[in-house]
Amino acid sequence: MPNTEWLQGAVGLTPRGEIEIDHRGETSQSGIFAAGDATTTPYKQIVVAMGEGSKAALSAFDYIIRTELMGEAVTGHHVTGA
Ligand SMILES: Cc1cc2nc3c(=O)[nH]c(=O)nc-3n(C[C@H](O)[C@H](O)[C@H](O)COP(=O)(O)OP(=O)(O)OC[C@H]3O[C@@H](n4cnc5c(N)ncnc54)[C@H](O)[C@@H]3O)c2cc1C
Repeated sequence: MPNTEWLQGAVGLTPRGEIEIDHRGETSQSGIFAAGDATTTPYKQIVVAMGEGSKAALSAFDYIIRTELMGEAVTGHHVTGA
């Protein structure tokens, strides 16, 4: 069982305590991403966790650059609509 009790109420969890994520690694809370064995991703293996972690990181970056104020902080440029 994943050690995710502390996330209860913050993001969606399954009855087994896995963090529910979509195909981009995003949780039920917009802008919060997760990866690896603690999530609903199938096949709890190292290579899967590595790939899913990379995907979640790219998704987080994509989220940041599409979020106006945060995108400016990261890129130094004004970011217009998505
Ligand atoms: C006995 C065993 C054998 C396995 N053999 C294989 C194998 O041969 N090949 C294979 O591909 N996979 C194997 N696996 C599966 C593989 O270990 C996992 O799929 C992989 O480690 C998942 O990586 P992860 O980063 O998602 O999680 P983890 O490697 O579990 O890393 C999670 C980290 O988060 C830390 N953590 C937890 N809660 C908190 C908290 N609240 N605050 C801060 N840190 C926290 C933990 O201490 C841990 O370091 C095996 C697993 C087990 C248990």
